[in-house]
Amino acid sequence: MQTLNARETGVLFWATADPSEILPTVTSFGVRCAQIGLRGDLDLSVAPAWNRALGDANLAITTVCAAYNGEDYADVPTVQQTVGFIPRATRAAREHRTYAVSDFAAAVGAGGIATHIGVVPHDPQNPDYLEVRDLVRRVCDYAAKRNQTFALETGQETAPVLLDFIRDVNRSNLGINFDPANMILYGTGDPIDALGLLAKHVLSVHCKDGDWPPKGDASALGREQPLGSGAVGVARFLKKLVEIGYQGPLTIEREGVDRSQWEQDIHNAIRLLESIKANAAPA
Ligand code: MG
Repeated sequence: MQTLNARETGVLFWATADPSEILPTVTSFGVRCAQIGLRGDLDLSVAPAWNRALGDANLAITTVCAAYNGEDYADVPTVQQTVGFIPRATRAAREHRTYAVSDFAAAVGAGGIATHIGVVPHDPQNPDYLEVRDLVRRVCDYAAKRNQTFALETGQETAPVLLDFIRDVNRSNLGINFDPANMILYGTGDPIDALGLLAKHVLSVHCKDGDWPPKGDASALGREQPLGSGAVGVARFLKKLVEIGYQGPLTIEREGVDRSQWEQDIHNAIRLLESIKANAAPA
């Protein structure tokens, strides 16, 4: 396996049943690493086929991201009700799906798994808080047996709330996938300040952009934008990552657009990151 450079550009893409439906496009971007997302309805028996195809493509998978059937990101209340491990009706099924995602990650040689665990109640005596905390401990322990980290996707809570949760879970392979756009889309705080607070827990990052939610509407989410067109400030994000000593990949994420727009936006995002990195390089 090739050695990646510090802050090497990568891409998040969603797995298809047949790797040939998406992998040639990903390799055409010229990246050497990626995060692969697994939607809840994907039959994970495709893991061996994916492992072969990734080897042939010489593409390293750094993280496998889990999404679950029934999740809906329409607005804040819908996210609270449907995402991650919070909905009780699907909690056990999603826990078992996460173990299968960890097995998939092991099959493709990824060092970590990640997911949105949902909007965890802030009250540490709340039964949902306690059950989700214990569930996260079990997922960490399952992943640890496969030498994997488990990253919580950031954005749905403030940095201090997330820090308290991580300390309470108390597992050494638990960390975060820091997504600066989510903090803006959910209105949970300035992402660069949050990155400073959460620095030592950052396992991986998403390079995604977006606008703040409209003022006066507590249920609305902000709108995702192509990288460089939202409120993140990509240059200051990269500068802060250097400051905190982050060495992992810069994985570009773009959601909510059709395939051809996705390809165009990823191409543009790669160019943007490369130009920022070139300008930041010492003379
Ligand atoms: Mg993300």
